Amino acid sequence: MDFRTHLKKYLLDDQIEALIKSLENKEVKHALVLNDEKISVDSFKKEFPNIIPHPIVPNVFIYDSNDYSFGKHIYHEMGYYYIFEPCSSIVSHLLNPNENDIVLDIAAAPGGKSIHTSLLMKNQGILVSNEIQQARAFVLSSNVERMGRKNIIVTNNNIDDLVSKYQNYFSKIILDAPCSGSGMFRKMDAMKEDWTYQKVLSLSSLQKELITKAYSMLQEGGKLVYSTCSFSYEEDEEVIIHLLNNTDAQLLPIENQNGFYYSKEKIGIHLLPHLFGGEGHYICLIEKPIKNLAIPSYKSLKDKFNDIRKITHLDEGYIYKFDDTYYYLNKYIDTKGLHIIRGGLKLGVQEKYGFVFDHALSHYSKNINSLELTLEEAKSYIEGNQITKNCKDGYVLLTYQSNGIGFGKASKNKINNKYPKGLRIKL
Ligand code: SAM
Repeated sequence: MDFRTHLKKYLLDDQIEALIKSLENKEVKHALVLNDEKISVDSFKKEFPNIIPHPIVPNVFIYDSNDYSFGKHIYHEMGYYYIFEPCSSIVSHLLNPNENDIVLDIAAAPGGKSIHTSLLMKNQGILVSNEIQQARAFVLSSNVERMGRKNIIVTNNNIDDLVSKYQNYFSKIILDAPCSGSGMFRKMDAMKEDWTYQKVLSLSSLQKELITKAYSMLQEGGKLVYSTCSFSYEEDEEVIIHLLNNTDAQLLPIENQNGFYYSKEKIGIHLLPHLFGGEGHYICLIEKPIKNLAIPSYKSLKDKFNDIRKITHLDEGYIYKFDDTYYYLNKYIDTKGLHIIRGGLKLGVQEKYGFVFDHALSHYSKNINSLELTLEEAKSYIEGNQITKNCKDGYVLLTYQSNGIGFGKASKNKINNKYPKGLRIKL
């Protein structure tokens, strides 16, 4: 079956024509979610007046890449925002996570939905961001670090590893499933050329397996959001119908907003480029009914690392040591047996001559012995240069606008650059 014909499963002819026409328009709009822990919405709007608030999602802005190169700005390196696709932001917005949630994102790389979720959780609770492909899991981990997230653990496992550990466990789950990617046709010609109906069918059966397994990890009363960037009914409604027919899952209604498209059955929403803008997404919300309140209890563990707590100024949460490195978690969660890429916020290593802070901590903390740089100095530091500036000897957190950029080690007013070599960039 060809692309046009297969859309007839849920779209009328005039909608199909409008959708196909919009896929030929290569004018792509970008969006970013602001990290308001680092910069206020007002200051950001003042500095970049051409950004447009997302019509639905708070703290998300739409922009034209002819106006701003946000990917090459110092604010990007400092984790002031995460750039993603305008439709993507609807997923976490509808899931509506909070500070008490224990969330699982099953297919998380490169990280847009996880980072947005973590921001909505105000860096509290726990978010396990999993990615099956190792190289992508490292990219995810580096994005999580840049954005200063202390509530995210990054794992690199297949869904069966997670299922065997976490039955009825998470209060919220995101399954942004691998899909045929027709919602990426405008951005990537390769997606268009690779599309076959056979591929849609085989992904549909993988998605049915993934959603059923994902659902088994949801606690009673918990919410699951399923999304794809595919326009195929087989990868969207049909996957949800499979779940509803084979489990006790219940569909949650999604309130109509300007541009949402519902198929006849009203199972989830389609964001179609000609109606909503953005590239295209399908989103559906599911709930697990409460039967016997079998909600897991999370152990509240005390740690013994008061010295590290003092040095790092982390008052709450749980500090643990793995090999020689100290990590921080908001809450203890058992991850034994999983392949961990990032076991929480990495704090550093205790050496004989003192504590060596990890770069990850610089994006979160503001309280460590710090030194404010000018914009020119900050850019030079990110490039990898030594900074000369009046400063006490020893480890120092270098800041710009009072937000951490990275560490340096000062001796006689020369600050050796500890910015990770792989991240150095000319801005
Ligand atoms: N949620 C991500 C974000 O917001 O940045 C995008 C995820 S992308 C749509 C789908 C992900 O599913 C890919 O990273 C891919 O590696 C992963 N994936 C592929 N096959 C998978 C499988 N069998 N099980 C779980 N994840 C899989």
